[in-house]
Amino acid sequence: MPDADYDRDSLAAKLRQIVGEDNIAFDEPLSGHTTFKIGGPADIFVSPDDADELRGVLAACAEARAPHFLLGCGSDLLVSDEGYRGVIVSLTEGLVGVTVEGKEMTCQAGVSLREASEMACELGLSGLEFACGIPGSVGGACYMNAGAYGGSMADVLSSVRVICPDGSLATLSVDELELGYRKSRIASEGLVVVSATFALKAGKPEVIRERMEELTRQREEKQPLELPSAGSTFKRPEGYFAGKLIMDAGLKGYQVGGAAVSKKHAGFVVNVDEATAADVHAVIEHVQDEVERQFGVRLEPEVRFLG
Ligand SMILES: Cc1cc2nc3c(=O)[nH]c(=O)nc-3n(C[C@H](O)[C@H](O)[C@H](O)COP(=O)(O)OP(=O)(O)OC[C@H]3O[C@@H](n4cnc5c(N)ncnc54)[C@H](O)[C@@H]3O)c2cc1C
Repeated sequence: MPDADYDRDSLAAKLRQIVGEDNIAFDEPLSGHTTFKIGGPADIFVSPDDADELRGVLAACAEARAPHFLLGCGSDLLVSDEGYRGVIVSLTEGLVGVTVEGKEMTCQAGVSLREASEMACELGLSGLEFACGIPGSVGGACYMNAGAYGGSMADVLSSVRVICPDGSLATLSVDELELGYRKSRIASEGLVVVSATFALKAGKPEVIRERMEELTRQREEKQPLELPSAGSTFKRPEGYFAGKLIMDAGLKGYQVGGAAVSKKHAGFVVNVDEATAADVHAVIEHVQDEVERQFGVRLEPEVRFLG
């Protein structure tokens, strides 16, 4: 089992050998790596350049029994104010390659969905339009089966290349990933996404662009994109909409410290003024309790907590 009392100096020396001096940092504030702009320091922050380095980093962490965490764009994360005692493995600097073969596009895990959908549009490949406004990485999107406006990763993925907990590499077809509403085998079995292959359809770039612009307009109209957040704070409860329940409970604008329920979209908790993670937790808990008290529904966070 990983242990927060791992030998930091000896692991740091090993990781330096694997990723090089330029790709390792210590006591790195995670507020700079999350869309919430919240989070204390990580003991060690590494950015592997490719899949081999990534495997090396994971093996070194396992050998040192050090906790580690895979970081994409940090757009679904609330990191504690104390930060993370372990190794953050960041994929958005190094694993950013894209290859295209016919109508199949393969993106490494750190490619942003924005970039992937832009590239597909330019190449006249349709299917990723729904993802253009999701501010995550390909790896994080596979992990959560990210989706929007009627589409999700499950609809466009053909296969995913993963590192298994024993360090071996495997290619899993979309059916083997067991993708459901914000869940996957990647999450339940601790698999690490190295790359994902999308099966797209031929389309006219101008039609694809139009759809992406329309979806962006809808997002800008409804979501508080001008403030830091981690998107929808809660999962959609069966038979309800989280935002509507929160609004009906009279909680729009409810604020603790610098964190508040968005006045524009009650499903989002936003960082209005240098919020701490503790502020956000206090808002989340109050919303959960109040919605349950009024409507008998316990909202479950969609945002993942770290540290
Ligand atoms: C304004 C806003 C709007 C949003 N809208 C949507 C939306 O419409 N639909 C939607 O689904 N989500 C939405 N989100 C949430 C978020 O963008 C998605 O969940 C996204 O897929 C998270 O990707 P990420 O790279 O940021 O993951 P991170 O936040 O970095 O990580 C999330 C989880 O994925 C894991 N992970 C990351 N990379 C890998 C990898 N390579 N292998 C294995 N595990 C990995 C992490 O360990 C973590 O557990 C929104 C967020 C914001 C801020």
